Amino acid sequence: MILTVTMNPSIDMSYPIDHLKIDDVNRVKDVSKTAGGKGLNVSRVINFMGTDILATGIIGGFFGKFIEKNLDQEQIQHSFTHIDQETRNSIALLHDNGNQTEILESGPTIAEEDNIRFLKDYKKLLEKTDLVTMSGSLPRGLGSDYYSKMIDIAKENNVKVILDSSGETLRTSLLNNNKPFLIKPNQNEIGQLVGEKFERSNYDSIPYYLNSSIFDGVEWIVVSLGADGAIAKHNKKFYRVKIPVIKVVNPVGSGDSTLAGLSVAISHEKSDEEILKTGMTTGILNTMEKRTGFINKDLFSKYYDEITVESM
Ligand code: ADP
Repeated sequence: MILTVTMNPSIDMSYPIDHLKIDDVNRVKDVSKTAGGKGLNVSRVINFMGTDILATGIIGGFFGKFIEKNLDQEQIQHSFTHIDQETRNSIALLHDNGNQTEILESGPTIAEEDNIRFLKDYKKLLEKTDLVTMSGSLPRGLGSDYYSKMIDIAKENNVKVILDSSGETLRTSLLNNNKPFLIKPNQNEIGQLVGEKFERSNYDSIPYYLNSSIFDGVEWIVVSLGADGAIAKHNKKFYRVKIPVIKVVNPVGSGDSTLAGLSVAISHEKSDEEILKTGMTTGILNTMEKRTGFINKDLFSKYYDEITVESM
């Protein structure tokens, strides 16, 4: 079973408005409210892939209950640590022909006793799992080394860690003694880590940067490149993954869906090629759906067969 961690989940509310009127009333008919946060997108896609998954993290209040009910409806198992504060809302105003204005709450500040209680709960859940995914930013109150602490506990329990984070949190996790098994930076995130700007013209230099000492001990690095597929490193081997051109409906959550596919294939002990093709396919399928973190599994083999993996 795969354990997915979402430390700062949210209810994602999307409000389509023809024209956003500032300092005026905007009426909305067609509201959508879903369980959000990167880790919950990962959870949904793993569930669509038919692999056992248990979602955990920190949740609270009325909005936390809403998320749990939402997961129940989707038949996703969960075991969150509950706190005495409200889980956050993230609001996206979709307006004026394709503009998206977002209002994102920071969410609760985690108290010391809640942080310790979560780590205890997490340790217990690891007994049932062989792979754990950690996605997204950390809530206030947890230091940038919090994922490192979770990686240490996973290591003690022989559980592989797949980490999708960015900035200081990702850097701190890479400098930890115990390393994540896999990281999946996109082109901006890898650029930030190695102090370089990557675009199509210099993708070929990515393998050089993946040899930087900051990545020592990380078994898999999958650099996802949006419509350009991915460049990956597994131990000393490098791969260029090419994907078909498709009609994109909504690319938000593609990285999370890729992470889900990679996790599923790794937990089933697939080959390097199969792991990469599965991750790319779930990413592609997400871009073809309106809803974030959704895939149509019926289209899986069609796109899987169109992906190529070459050694670099
Ligand atoms: P992130 O969402 O983390 O920024 P990417 O944008 O790199 O991640 O997307 C992850 C994966 O999703 C890509 O490697 C690819 O397989 C798929 N994907 C994303 N955008 C597109 C696109 N425009 N066309 C086809 N596939 C895409």
